[in-house]
This record gives sequence, C-alpha cells and structure tokens, in this order.
Amino acid sequence: MANPKGKTPAAAGKRATAATASRRPRSRYSPAEVAEIFRRLSVQRPEPVGELEYVNPFTLLVAVVLSAQATDVGVNKATRPLFAVADTPQKMAALGEAAVGEYIRTIGLWRNKAKNVIALSKALIHDHGGRVPEDEASLTALPGVGRKTANVVRNTAFGHPTIAVDTHIFRIGNRLGLAPGKTPDAVEAGLLKIIPPQYLRHAHHWLILHGRYVCKARKPDCQACVIADLCKAGEKTTDIPAPLIEIAPLREDAGLA
Ligand code: SF4
Repeated sequence: MANPKGKTPAAAGKRATAATASRRPRSRYSPAEVAEIFRRLSVQRPEPVGELEYVNPFTLLVAVVLSAQATDVGVNKATRPLFAVADTPQKMAALGEAAVGEYIRTIGLWRNKAKNVIALSKALIHDHGGRVPEDEASLTALPGVGRKTANVVRNTAFGHPTIAVDTHIFRIGNRLGLAPGKTPDAVEAGLLKIIPPQYLRHAHHWLILHGRYVCKARKPDCQACVIADLCKAGEKTTDIPAPLIEIAPLREDAGLA
C-alpha cells in the first residue's frame, strides 16, 4: 500500500530524526561564544589534571570506581597506602577482598566496592592480559564500571576526547544553558556537539574544575569567574569577568563535591 502522503519510509524516518533533534534543547551560545568560553578555560588551566591520585591506568580505574559517592580527598587518603602495595591487577587480586576492604573502609559503600575491585582485577587478568582496555565496550563489561567511569578512564589514561558528565558538568550544562538536558547522556551529547575539537581533550576536566571551584552548586562565585561576561545563567551576579590568569593545580584542596 502506498504511503498516504506519498513519502517513502526512509523519508519519514529522516523527518522523525529531525523532529527528535529539534525537540532537544539547544545551547544558548553561538559557536563563537562557546569557543571563547573554552579558550578562557584553557588559558586558566593549559594542562588540567584530575584530582584523583593514580600511578597507571589500572590504579586510575580503581580510583574512579571507588570515587562513586565519595570525595576525591577521601579516595586519595585510602588509595595512597593501597596502591603502594597493589598497583597491578595481579597484586590486587592476590591481596584479596578482605584486605582491600580494610584499606577502603573509610569510603562509602566500601564492601561492595572491595568486591568490585577484586572482581575487575580478576577480569582484567583473565580477559585482557592484565592490561586496562581502551574501548568503551570492554571497559563497561568490567564489574562496577559504568559508562561514566569508562569515559573518565578513556579520557584521562588514554587521551580520548570523551566527556563524563558528573554532578558539576550536569549543573553547568543546564545552569548556563550551554548544553541543556534532562539526563547526563543528553548533556554529554549536547557538549560533544558544540565544543570545538581542539578543546575536547580537556573539556571534561575544565568543566569539572570550573564547577567545583567557581560555578558552585549552592552559590556560584561569579566574582571569580572568567566567563562572567559571556554567561547567560539566571543566577549570575556580575557581568565583569575575573582576570584571566593561569591557575596552578590544587590536588590537596580537591574533593569539595
Ligand atoms: S558567571 Fe556565575 S553562574 Fe555564570 S558560569 Fe560564572 S560562576 Fe557560573
């Protein structure tokens, strides 16, 4: 039977996709404004570092798994002695669940996390020769590893241009109208669409640090904000941007989330 409006199924599919895309909230910023926002964030932190401590991709993976619903400071305190004795999947598996639990019992959900750390260490040994895989499918197949954790590891350990939307990035995406979305995945898709390629590698860290230290949840510190003139958030309290100068990393001050 002919299509009532004489359109092919393929054309109807394209229309539906376009309609879905047009329903997605759009960024309130022009491409030039987005580029200027990220240029300034890049001047502030040319080589941003995450605040979780690690010595190799494996310890980064473990630290990110442990950081769910915990502060970076709390995780670092627990992992310093743990990684001193177990910085490979083989050593971690040999240590065993009970001993890992002793190291991390100051971290929320530690029992479950100790179980996952041992299970993912064994999976890395059995399925990946003891190496941390780079691709998302292999990472998310590991025990206790979700898409956000995989994105952090892919970005931080291997340099992939991914964005793991945490509470800070989700807030900034919506508060500023940079990449509005009802879910972390929607904000991630919006950000990946608008951020110029040259800034994608570090965008994840810039946005987290901006959210943690300046565009804070309860009271944004607009006086200290280098993008105050560009910002379109209803909450902002000034249009005058803070001086654009490089900021030294502050590992020990981390974890105010
Ligand atoms: S001006 Fe204020 S609300 Fe806007 S990004 Fe800066 S800190 Fe956040």
